[in-house]
Amino acid sequence: MARCEIFAGNWKMYKTRQEALDLVRGILAGISDIGGREVVVFPPSPWALPVSELCRGTKVSVGIQNMYFEQEGAFTGEVSPLMVKDAGCRYVLIGHSERRHVFGETDEAVNKKAAAALKNGIEPMICVGELLDEREKGNTNDVLKRQVEKALAGVTAEQMKKVVVAYEPVWAIGTGKVATPETADEAHDFIRRVVKDLYGAGTADALPILYGGSVKPDNIAGLHAKENIDGVLVGGASLKAESFLNIICVK
Ligand code: PEP
Repeated sequence: MARCEIFAGNWKMYKTRQEALDLVRGILAGISDIGGREVVVFPPSPWALPVSELCRGTKVSVGIQNMYFEQEGAFTGEVSPLMVKDAGCRYVLIGHSERRHVFGETDEAVNKKAAAALKNGIEPMICVGELLDEREKGNTNDVLKRQVEKALAGVTAEQMKKVVVAYEPVWAIGTGKVATPETADEAHDFIRRVVKDLYGAGTADALPILYGGSVKPDNIAGLHAKENIDGVLVGGASLKAESFLNIICVK
């Protein structure tokens, strides 16, 4: 079935305001014939609003890299879904491996954030993925099943129309070690089967599942050719307009 294809760039904690605006201008200037592909950028939170203003009415959507699940309150340092919406963001990255493994974000927090996003009309891009040790011990599928099931607890089939999953093996993020297209496709197929068991074939077939982990212009073609890979979430290679455009425009 034809699923929407999404090419997303996670800028992590890089770029001054000027650099962020220059990068998005470069992306906008280079996007030409991308058909039905969706492009999303995740700038650092302080630049979400100016980047959204530049992207309004263009083919590029904006997301935030993280948010809290409460609407407002005494939560120093956090950003609420209301603020994310107000800053013009369509998407939120939830459960990125750096959130899980550097900041100790749990499956429960991921679930609360996904629910808060959906309640507020923000589309969660939920990241899942195994550690190297988990893969080597043969536990990849158990980890993926647990992360997917916990993240989606309480999410309705209707809400699933606004959910994106990103498979990001932790051993491939920022390491230069990309998963082979076959390894990634196998994991995507497994995730889709988990979603099918939860919601049925219609929802599972329609769910965009992105691959993330050391995607570069020179390895995108093999990943893009795979049936179950509906786009990519790119870190390092999204920090330069030229390399991100080479990924977005893959044949
Ligand atoms: C990411 O930040 O989600 C990511 C996949 O990073 P990189 O492309 O640099 O591995």
